[in-house]
Amino acid sequence: MKALLRALLLAIVASFAQPLFAAELRVVTSFSILADLVRQIGGDRVQVTSLVDFDGDAHAWQPRPSDARAVLDADLIVANGLGFDAWLERLAESSGARRPVIASTGARTLEHDDGHDHHGHDHGALDPHAWQDVGNARVYAANIAAALVASDPAGAPVYREHLTRFDAELAALDAEIRERLADVPEHARKVVTSHDAFNYFGAAYGVRFVAAAGVGSQSEVSAAAMARLIRQLRREKAPVVFLENVNDPRLIERIGAEAGARVGGTLYSDALSSPDGPAPTYAAMMRHNLETLLAGLQP
Ligand SMILES: [Zn+2]
Repeated sequence: MKALLRALLLAIVASFAQPLFAAELRVVTSFSILADLVRQIGGDRVQVTSLVDFDGDAHAWQPRPSDARAVLDADLIVANGLGFDAWLERLAESSGARRPVIASTGARTLEHDDGHDHHGHDHGALDPHAWQDVGNARVYAANIAAALVASDPAGAPVYREHLTRFDAELAALDAEIRERLADVPEHARKVVTSHDAFNYFGAAYGVRFVAAAGVGSQSEVSAAAMARLIRQLRREKAPVVFLENVNDPRLIERIGAEAGARVGGTLYSDALSSPDGPAPTYAAMMRHNLETLLAGLQP
């Protein structure tokens, strides 16, 4: 009887010492698009927290005390870099947390066009919105996979397998966007948005974007810049303007009304939609933007 009890006790102790499932890797990202890329590669092995939630504006983010706690508890922190989320790098440093991995390392970068007024945001000479080119998102995914392998070597085969599958999906998406936009006559591939978030999309897929505000989404638009844009739209007969999920729609609605342009729908620039919205993942976001552009650009 005593031996049986002892065996039972040992079995219970052993079951606690060797949990059935490995603890999930805690990953913190600055914004929702990165969070999805981490989930695609990490799968069930990761628990991802995005500090800026869906439809949120990461340009203007003021970290909360709970954000400091989240980065301190994280096994891995992922930032975009290129000045987009420098607040996360500062937050990690001031909290004594680990250094963020920069997802955009090695991506093809563009300098941002300084033709608009913008004030005092965390932007260097490079345009931070590199994820809007799917070719760059493939670089992000590879960097994230390497960071996950380094943080959790036991999961390496899983992360590599997920990266192979996801990279193939992104390559197909990249080709699809390029092919379908090529069907739109070149003179019609002209788009007006509220902030300068689509230069990478434009460069990769042959669409010309004009933004009312600068690269930072909170940039103020002066009356003179607004009048200039409206004159330009009338002159170019740009028929359609697009809203963005992270910006106040009133600016674009007003520009559209004054320039005699139609509002063509909402593009997702710097954040995903809620899970039940039209852009809950990176791939869904790019596909939604493609369909919205195609529908809006039809003559
Ligand atoms: Zn932006």
